[in-house]
Amino acid sequence: MTIIARKQTVAVKIGNVAMGGGAPIVVQSMTNTDTADVGQTVAQVEALARAGSELVRITVDREEAAAAVPLIRAQLDKRGVDVPLIGDFHYNGHTLLASYPECAESLAKYRINPGNVGFKDKRDKQFSQIIEIALKHDKPVRIGVNWGSLDQDLLTQLMNENAESATPKDAREVMHEAMVQSALLSAARAQELGMGADKIVLSAKVSAVQDLIAVYRMLAERSDLALHLGLTEAGMGSKGIVASSAAMSVLMQEGIGDTIRISLTPEPGGDRSLEVKVAQELLQSMGFRAFVPLVAACPGCGRTTSTTFQELARDIQDFIRDQMPVWKRQYPGVENLNVAVMGCIVNGPGESKHADIGISLPGTGETPAAPVFVEGKKVTTLRGPGAADEFKQMVLDYIEQRYGS
Ligand code: SF4
Repeated sequence: MTIIARKQTVAVKIGNVAMGGGAPIVVQSMTNTDTADVGQTVAQVEALARAGSELVRITVDREEAAAAVPLIRAQLDKRGVDVPLIGDFHYNGHTLLASYPECAESLAKYRINPGNVGFKDKRDKQFSQIIEIALKHDKPVRIGVNWGSLDQDLLTQLMNENAESATPKDAREVMHEAMVQSALLSAARAQELGMGADKIVLSAKVSAVQDLIAVYRMLAERSDLALHLGLTEAGMGSKGIVASSAAMSVLMQEGIGDTIRISLTPEPGGDRSLEVKVAQELLQSMGFRAFVPLVAACPGCGRTTSTTFQELARDIQDFIRDQMPVWKRQYPGVENLNVAVMGCIVNGPGESKHADIGISLPGTGETPAAPVFVEGKKVTTLRGPGAADEFKQMVLDYIEQRYGS
């Protein structure tokens, strides 16, 4: 698919999912349910997994949540949902993992935040405890630095050094350095404690696009550990989608990143799976992976005679997404299919010819006829109110003929 050379990182196995070392970029997401509520968490993990999330992270913040983790795992297994679960720990991860060994065993990876486990005083001990538990259960960890909870001692130390330097840097650059050092020092400490590089994933999340790009470039230059990309606190709706896509696409274009999470603040009552859909679409539009057939549709303009073409484009897209769980098994390779639905003669026939199958609906003043192209050749012209349904059937027949066994 892609012609971008990916940076070679150390491969890590998270449950049954391969990450880094040239494996395809992994899509992951995180629940927003109370983990202690087993029913709701199972339902959301299942929805995220069915939407295509290959790893799902859950908060483990207190005893009730830790006790719930093995029950969540068992229920998911019973439902045939084998997505690996990652435990997100802050402050008390060492205690929870030590007190709830079944939780430690059920999770496929532990996320540690060096900013609130840390190095100073008790923090080093607590960090070491988590690493030792991970070693005992043979689990990988993500050392996940976050701008909002950055190790303040380390930051202060670097700020002081910078103030005394003959060539002081900009405060933002010092912050970047602190993020990177926090991740790298923690990784080195984990390795000192006996953890292999094949058990460590790094992340250093910030909320501004340019900062994220700068920090990850530094991380990629100074380490070959697998990298988890994510813009933290990306925001709601289109703002979150655009900011995350902008930051991650620049990095992935440079070969940086082994897994991505698009963190979106859901609209009230909104669909949590949207972040999975956006991550998949980002990877697919950049040519890194294919998840569902792509439907190219023109934006429509004053030449579009009716809403038929928008409806058809939406219809085909929704239909394809709904069918994918079945089609993936029935029609191997169907995710690479390209369909075009175009609104008039200006770009319609040209774009349709470039797709595997495409239709050019008639625009204003055009003869009411819709030529259909298959693999670059015009195969028929559809007319009348049944044209949309006929085209849908043609797409199905094409899939059957090309990808059916
Ligand atoms: Fe408008 Fe035609 Fe272009 Fe679609 S293909 S945007 S209808 S000019």
